[in-house]
Amino acid sequence: MENDRRGSFDRAPREMYDVICAECGEKTQVPFKPDGSRPVYCRECYQKRRRKY
Ligand SMILES: [Zn+2]
Repeated sequence: MENDRRGSFDRAPREMYDVICAECGEKTQVPFKPDGSRPVYCRECYQKRRRKY
């Protein structure tokens, strides 16, 4: 019997997806898969948009 199954925790580092920022046009990466239905922003623009006021 193989009770000692360590492998399951051995995940690859978070998968990143290449995207183009909808704001500044920079190439960036996001940890989720862009579904195309909403704009994706780089980290900087994302934060800029968050504090609008
Ligand atoms: Zn940007």
